[in-house]
Amino acid sequence: MNTQDFIKREEKYGAHNYHPLPVVLEKGKGIYVWDVEGKKYFDFLSAYSAVNQGHCHPKIIAAMQDQANQLTLTSRAFYASALGEYEEYLCKYFGYDKVLPMNTGAEGDETAIKLCRKWAYTKKGVPENQAKIIVCAENFHGRTITIISMSTDPVAKKDFGPYTPGFITIPYNDLDALEKELEDSNVAGFLVEPIQGEAGVFVPDEGYLKKAYDLCKAKNVLFIADEVQTGIARTGKLLASDHEGVHPDILILGKALSGGAYPVSAVLANDEIMLCIKPGEHGSTFGGNPVAAKVAIAALEVVKEEKLAENAEKLGKIFRKKLSDIKSDMIGIVRGKGLLNAVVVTPKNGKTAWDVCVAMKENGLIAKPTHDHIIRFAPPLVITENEQYEAIEIIKKTFKEFE
Ligand code: PLP
Repeated sequence: MNTQDFIKREEKYGAHNYHPLPVVLEKGKGIYVWDVEGKKYFDFLSAYSAVNQGHCHPKIIAAMQDQANQLTLTSRAFYASALGEYEEYLCKYFGYDKVLPMNTGAEGDETAIKLCRKWAYTKKGVPENQAKIIVCAENFHGRTITIISMSTDPVAKKDFGPYTPGFITIPYNDLDALEKELEDSNVAGFLVEPIQGEAGVFVPDEGYLKKAYDLCKAKNVLFIADEVQTGIARTGKLLASDHEGVHPDILILGKALSGGAYPVSAVLANDEIMLCIKPGEHGSTFGGNPVAAKVAIAALEVVKEEKLAENAEKLGKIFRKKLSDIKSDMIGIVRGKGLLNAVVVTPKNGKTAWDVCVAMKENGLIAKPTHDHIIRFAPPLVITENEQYEAIEIIKKTFKEFE
């Protein structure tokens, strides 16, 4: 079978809920992936920042294999020896009293919403069913009905109603709007991405997160950070919130928490909040399973051992500088933090960001447009300076082809 055969089979038997770039991958190692014809590519998407530690990291895979040979799933009906070890490790790593383990990012967000509402009724004194959570326009928190109810993206939302009530939408990076909505005493939480990833890597003004956190504190409202995409060293710090010294009341992690080896997500909070949820009120058959527990510990050890945050910080600066230096009518703004970056593409002669991504693929680098006109560049954080220069040459050469 060749690339076209693989694509045809997916088209025939798989739901059409994605529009992938026409490349069929079958192997990955570190910053590289290979297609079914054996062609090698720089991976500049990293599975939407899930593979921060690089593809098939030997330490993470070994942890997964060891645990898979021992015990894979108990459900939470019983205690499991690996879970407590993971919970302790995670709490100490991020500085929280407790963790609630789940599997996907969307489940992490759902968990945070439930936790926030429960806290509102049992601690803050919000009247039953009146709790509200403030969210930001252009957010991306996943795909469940409640999460798309908070979305402003018509593609994510249309024809999937009726929607879950209880959300107030304000513009991103707008402290005045936040302050105004916080006047409502039924507001329980503010859910925010420290950088809006899916929206096209929108970095808020410096000081936004800290001021938003302080405004929330003044009104006894929980500051909830969705760091599913920005967390685990991606933006040059362990968490993007760390850039402003903010310690969220509720922290949502996913993706690179497992180094992309396994679906692992987590919600962290202190006892005052986390203990609002009682036995039977929330959970997941697979959440916190022994394989997930061991994989996540290994993935987090790799982040520290290989100094991935420091590398992201350093190489990110070089990346943005080098891309801004490329002379091309198609390159608009270059923005980002650490190794979460994006280029706004101006269409030329009918050629769009999609065409640029297809051409980059031909030249040996894969990335994906978001919202038609933006290309996100997010390589695994194990990339070296020289490897990045090589990749930047491919990006440069590709844009030149459109001149
Ligand atoms: N939250 C953010 C900020 C995300 O970027 C994503 C996925 O891109 C999610 C949540 C959803 O994660 P998942 O696809 O694992 O459900």
